Amino acid sequence: MLEKLLAGRWIAGATIEDGFITAKKVNLNNASAILNYLGEDIEDMDDVDKTVKIYMKLIDGIKNMKIKADISLKPTELGLKIDKKTMRWNYIKIVKHAKENGIFVWLDMEQASFVDDTIRLYRSGLPYKNVGICIQAYLRRSISDLRYLSRIDSTVRLVKGAYSESSKIAFSSWADVTANYSELMEYLFKNFSRFTIATHDSSLIKKAFGLNEKYKRDVTYAMLNGIRNNYAYRLAADGNKVSIYVPFGTAWFKYAFRRLKEEGGARRFVSLLANFRQN
Ligand SMILES: Cc1cc2nc3c(=O)[nH]c(=O)nc-3n(C[C@H](O)[C@H](O)[C@H](O)COP(=O)(O)OP(=O)(O)OC[C@H]3O[C@@H](n4cnc5c(N)ncnc54)[C@H](O)[C@@H]3O)c2cc1C
Repeated sequence: MLEKLLAGRWIAGATIEDGFITAKKVNLNNASAILNYLGEDIEDMDDVDKTVKIYMKLIDGIKNMKIKADISLKPTELGLKIDKKTMRWNYIKIVKHAKENGIFVWLDMEQASFVDDTIRLYRSGLPYKNVGICIQAYLRRSISDLRYLSRIDSTVRLVKGAYSESSKIAFSSWADVTANYSELMEYLFKNFSRFTIATHDSSLIKKAFGLNEKYKRDVTYAMLNGIRNNYAYRLAADGNKVSIYVPFGTAWFKYAFRRLKEEGGARRFVSLLANFRQN
């Protein structure tokens, strides 16, 4: 009930079946899904094991139901905060199983303190050739990460960035983040053959269309479920490759809070929560 009230717009539902249902709806609109099992900052190994099992089941379901979908994982749901060796083992287990079933595996990017570990983890999956990594335009370091990733033949998903970071390491104004996104996007067009432009910002998407007339790259446009699906589906109807990121699961709180914050709705979130507790 609380989940539906606060997060129902963005999250497919609590169960893996909810994820499949939403992914199928996305497919009916000529777009692909990116399925994510909600969870982050996990500090209990039993929860990590449960997460890995759900991703294995997710891969089987995508394959068996012929759903058009990638999957996307967070390093801290695979054990980054507990034991890096176990995290790597879990990641490779999922990547291998996905590879056997023709499914692509993204790594989400979390807080800045995890970027080096995330890039290292991504590199360990590269030999399987079905992996991609998210890069955040708000981080000042991202241009040098892109330079490195271009040298190791990477698939990148470019986003603005959703966490709170210090201005020492991150651009803080919306205008500066958008300007850096635009520069990094140009870098992608010049130096990468395939990548994902993940934003709801129409001006950046228009700019990407212009760049692609010149560079003719394999570009996918991706958006988060529940934000601008109709716009995404129009892009798909026009013949563009489009993906919708579809989270499911019960650990929705931090994800929903980030979305509300972006909409300037954090205050509304707190008051909704207060009302719910009173009622
Ligand atoms: C596919 C995908 C994967 C992502 N993965 C990650 C990740 O791994 N790590 C990470 O840190 N972040 C990730 N993000 C989130 C991202 O970093 C941003 O926080 C989020 O996308 C908001 O930035 P923006 O560029 O879309 O839009 P902004 O311009 O910053 O807009 C902010 C919000 O305003 C709204 N909005 C903007 N324009 C319009 C419009 N014209 N009409 C209606 N509403 C509008 C939307 O609610 C949007 O979310 C991902 C985003 C996407 C799309």
